[in-house]
Amino acid sequence: DETDSEITFRFKDLTTTLCNPDQLRAKPDVADLKFGHVFTDHMMKVFYHKKLGGWQKPVIIPFENISLHPAAKVLHYAVELFEGMKAYRGVDDKVRLFRPDLNMKRMNRSAQSSGLPTFQEEEMIECIKRLIQVDEEWVPHSEASSLYIRPTFIGIDGTLGVHQSDSALLYTILCPVGGYFEGTKESVSLLADPSYVRAWPGGSGDKKVGSNYGPTIRAQKKANQKGLQQVLWLYGPDHQITEVGTMNIFLFYKDEFGVKRLATPPLTGLILPGVIRQSILQLCEQWGEFVIEQRTITMAEVINLQLSDRLLEMFGSGTAAIVSPISSIEYLGQTIQIPTTEHQNPLYRRVREELKAIQYGHIDHPWAPKI
Ligand code: PMP
Repeated sequence: DETDSEITFRFKDLTTTLCNPDQLRAKPDVADLKFGHVFTDHMMKVFYHKKLGGWQKPVIIPFENISLHPAAKVLHYAVELFEGMKAYRGVDDKVRLFRPDLNMKRMNRSAQSSGLPTFQEEEMIECIKRLIQVDEEWVPHSEASSLYIRPTFIGIDGTLGVHQSDSALLYTILCPVGGYFEGTKESVSLLADPSYVRAWPGGSGDKKVGSNYGPTIRAQKKANQKGLQQVLWLYGPDHQITEVGTMNIFLFYKDEFGVKRLATPPLTGLILPGVIRQSILQLCEQWGEFVIEQRTITMAEVINLQLSDRLLEMFGSGTAAIVSPISSIEYLGQTIQIPTTEHQNPLYRRVREELKAIQYGHIDHPWAPKI
């Protein structure tokens, strides 16, 4: 039988040590904030030590560096996983999360696939809520901004050798973030180069592990050198479209009978199961105005739709920008223009407004629990 501390840590055991008033840092002007550069005053931490019975007591402490053994598994074999979620200050001044249960379920799936222990999701959500309460003044007072939440989980055994880590550190840090596209063009240009592959069947592309991200930097660099903004990740000999940068991808089009359809790749292990992806699918299902498809989409189909004037919109989806309209794809030496932003009332904008209305409390919704 498992003991309680082998199963989870508990919110009721959480203790808080606050910064001294003179340690509190000045809050920056969020409008000119670069993503992920400024952190709040506190962090949350909980250790797991198999030898000590499993999960230890969670703590909130002043933001600090972490100290690791030079052989720590995370530093050699990338035993690391993370999440990305946000807190939003609503019209009523209340702070809300967005579907944190989905992030925590995904985090546990990533932990399992990395040989790290799992925890009870509600316990972690309560600890994160308390951390945000402690740093509440860091949640921006603007609907163009939010507080980014980065739960992180690392294997810290100080032993070389590719084995499961018997010690681990789960921590959460927070950063205020401004509008994703503030001051830049809203729509993005993509490089689709089939010589780069992000994920493959039987791999870990559907987990949020750090080892999926570092190796994408070279492709992102190639795109930037060509004056393009993001990578469109292709897979297989038929050049299936899978994801865009660190977003899921949607295609809105008309079929040969003029029926409108929204398509997105299926959850077959090649893509991360995005919280925004799932939310868009659920919203559009409720609206019931067009056909929704989770299926394989190839570059040949995108080109064919564009040539026959039936391609309406393509957009990425993710916590950072909610939706990100796509304006062009460079593919095998040609540039495919996508008319996403050229419509009167585009779907991408409607989806974004609906999700923002939930996140910022214009609509009371079970997806957006208050902290
Ligand atoms: N795909 C990848 C590879 C990602 O890193 C992310 C960001 N977590 C997403 C998709 C979008 O996921 P979400 O909607 O949960 O932010």
